[in-house]
Amino acid sequence: MLTGVQIVLAGGDARQLEVIRRLTELDATVTIVGFDRLDTPFSGVVKAEWSADILKQVDALVLPAVGTDDEGIISTLFTDQELKLTDAHLAEMPKTSKVITGMAKPYLRKLCEKYHVELIELFERDDVAIYNSIPTAEGALMMAIQNTDITIHGSNCIVLGLGRTGFTMARTLQAVGARVKVGVRRDEAFARAFEMGFEPFYMPELARQAGNIDLIFNTIPTMIITAQVIAQLPLRACIIDLASKPGGTDFRFAEKRGIKALLAPGLPGIVAPKTAGRIIANSLTQIILEDNRLRGNRP
Ligand code: NAP
Repeated sequence: MLTGVQIVLAGGDARQLEVIRRLTELDATVTIVGFDRLDTPFSGVVKAEWSADILKQVDALVLPAVGTDDEGIISTLFTDQELKLTDAHLAEMPKTSKVITGMAKPYLRKLCEKYHVELIELFERDDVAIYNSIPTAEGALMMAIQNTDITIHGSNCIVLGLGRTGFTMARTLQAVGARVKVGVRRDEAFARAFEMGFEPFYMPELARQAGNIDLIFNTIPTMIITAQVIAQLPLRACIIDLASKPGGTDFRFAEKRGIKALLAPGLPGIVAPKTAGRIIANSLTQIILEDNRLRGNRP
């Protein structure tokens, strides 16, 4: 249980509702900021105005999936107020407290470093990335269906990268009957892709593999679908770029050639906010529970 643990949860979207629900189930003392328009109140949860004072006794400040933007603004769906995280807030936080978010931009990293407050980025954790790959692959499949005039069954697909997202993407496509080629750079990944029944190739081969492709799903966060690759794609091809912004596609050249190329960030929060919220809530409560157990200073 999290009895006596003080959590301030600032901003966010529908995913944070699952987090609030889980924290209250575990009896944490939860203060929420930026939820003025939330109709369904959570019993025992206090709504507060955004100020440094509410962070004086906090054990964890929970921020949305992307902690803040480059100016410190915390994204909020349930209020018109602007929430900005500044030096004044971090200065008030106890040194033993944590900031927990999905992923942090340099602004938040620097602020936490400056005030020696631990920053936890949930999306960096393997378990969270693997769980998140499920709604990501489902969302990408949905986009593929929406943006093609053929079935995914029987289509020729390429998945670039066999990491946590690429694996699930390739398996999901295979499960609906697509022919799946996988672009990798390591021998182990090549062998694993072969073992799983995909057609593996090494990345320098990409342009040569592009000839008869209906769909490319990219998970590699670097420029990989270059003009040279796009030039080889048939005009019917569709690129779905899942890698974090700015993606790994030469979008300018794709547009020039008339090839559909879509950058698709944040799919879990879009296609399955409840599941995505549960994934965050599970991981976050596990971290706070473990921290609480290690400190052994709570009932
Ligand atoms: P990951 O597990 O680290 O996988 C990345 C893959 O890219 C690995 O297979 C890696 O190969 C490969 N790679 C990296 N640089 C490469 C290069 N220069 N050449 C060839 N291969 C390269 O990461 P992930 O968790 O799958 O996430 C992948 C991307 O998707 C990230 O940008 C992440 O932010 C994004 N993402 C997007 C969504 C969404 O909704 N769109 C959801 C989740 C994640 P090695 O194994 O050889 O290192």
